[in-house]
Amino acid sequence: MNLIELGENTDSEYDHEHRCSANKHPKADRLVHCVTAHDEPFDSWQLHNIHYADETEVNLGEADYVGEITYHSMILVNYCPFCGAQLKQS
Ligand SMILES: [Zn+2]
Repeated sequence: MNLIELGENTDSEYDHEHRCSANKHPKADRLVHCVTAHDEPFDSWQLHNIHYADETEVNLGEADYVGEITYHSMILVNYCPFCGAQLKQS
C-alpha cells in the first residue's frame, strides 16, 4: 500500500514515510507524516499498525481473503519507536 492508498483508507494525506532497518515489520508498522486529516491541515507523525489477514484467518472465516486489512490503528509519535530517530521537528 502506498501513501496515496493509505490516505484514501484514512481520509488523510501523507507526504513522508520514515523507513529504517530497525523496523522489522515495515509493511505492518508504518511511520508516516500526515499533512491533512479529513480535509483539515495537520502536522504530525503517526505510527499506523496495519494487520493483513493470513491464510489461517481466512480458513477460520475471520477474513475474506489473504491480505485483507482486518485491523488498523494509529497513534501520534514524535520519535521512531524502532531506531529512536526524532521525527517531529521543533
Ligand atoms: Zn526508525
